Amino acid sequence: MIVIMLYSEIYLCKYGELALKGLNKSKFEGMLIREIKKRVAHYGEFSVTSSQSTIYIEPEGSISDPEAAFDALKKIFGISAVCRAAKTEKDIDKIKQTIREYIPPLLTGKKSFRASAKRADKRFPLNSPELSALAGEVILEAMGGDIRVSLDAPEATVTVEIRETHAYVHTDADKGAGGMPLGSAGGAMLLLSGGIDSPVAGYMMAKRGARIEAVHFESFPYTSEAAKNKALELARLLCVYCGDIRVTVISVTEIQERLRDTVDEEYFTLLLRRCMMRLAARTARDRGCDALITGESLGQVASQTMAAMNVTDPAAGMLVFRPCVGLDKEEIIRTARKINTFDTSVLPYEDCCTVFTPKHPKTKPTLDKVLLQENRADLSALEDDAYSRLETFNINEY
Ligand code: ATP
Ligand code: MG
Repeated sequence: MIVIMLYSEIYLCKYGELALKGLNKSKFEGMLIREIKKRVAHYGEFSVTSSQSTIYIEPEGSISDPEAAFDALKKIFGISAVCRAAKTEKDIDKIKQTIREYIPPLLTGKKSFRASAKRADKRFPLNSPELSALAGEVILEAMGGDIRVSLDAPEATVTVEIRETHAYVHTDADKGAGGMPLGSAGGAMLLLSGGIDSPVAGYMMAKRGARIEAVHFESFPYTSEAAKNKALELARLLCVYCGDIRVTVISVTEIQERLRDTVDEEYFTLLLRRCMMRLAARTARDRGCDALITGESLGQVASQTMAAMNVTDPAAGMLVFRPCVGLDKEEIIRTARKINTFDTSVLPYEDCCTVFTPKHPKTKPTLDKVLLQENRADLSALEDDAYSRLETFNINEY
């Protein structure tokens, strides 16, 4: 016996802001489609096509975990909404049958619904009001009195769409990750510590289209292997949103010891931060990134005052994004929980910034005094040496 499938289940994604981008739209769309293909490839074979601000993601054959594929789509930047839909032929009987089979399980537990219809193909024999009335009738009949129609405040909306080649039936879409496609804004180098803020900062800039790389500074043996692994684990967790991340690990042990031995204690942290900015910027330039990202938040600690940022910025010599700068810790934590980095961030490992920290750090430094101290430490050979010994890790979990 040959079983002919009445419908197949596919995913529909709506563009977010991308839909508004005039000339660059097709370039950004290409980036988005490439990213989608890469992410869903873990679950099987799919064809990914776009038409009129909608992306169609269709399984070719069976897929391993439809729910996980759906979740993965909801974490791709550049998509504002995602839904699962039944695709069928543009034939009234087939559409009715598809609604009858596909929709009732999705409405279980709901008390009210409304049906809506969109008709891109105006040659289809029913117009939109006729089609939505038909869909409503089929659902009411199939659900046998368990649900009623509410036009004003429905708990669910069932939509029938008649598009160029096929008809699609679905319930409400889930919210997508929003933002712009990864890479559409260029590359940026995230200074990734093991804390709460920096992963959130990376996520926020990736959401605006930055391709993320990361640099982590370690200070072995003052910081442990576990502290480094924690930063790598955070990068791994970020991959869910940011795609593959290359992490460069640079040891600043000798630099910290030199600073400890040569500069006034109160300048130690500022000088270390300037050194981190220089090394991060060097890594960024070598990797084709045009900006740095830090997790700094105004006033959070002594090294995050305006005056302190004014003396660390010039050491970067390139654009520095601090997307958390205006956020309260609570707001940062909320995002850290949402992106699942919080529990790892709070594991109690030391960070190089907490090694040899001064009791009374300068909160209102001036650049000329900082430069005098920096000259004393004469770091450039040590920085070259640290840079020549960098390690890299390609984190490509997703
Ligand atoms: P976090 O901001 O990481 O949650 P924190 O608030 O303790 O922790 P600070 O030590 O004040 O961070 O550092 C501010 C920023 O400097 C971090 O957000 C991060 O971008 C960068 N940074 C700090 N330590 C490191 C490190 N070991 N490697 C890379 N970047 C670091
Ligand atoms: Mg911080």
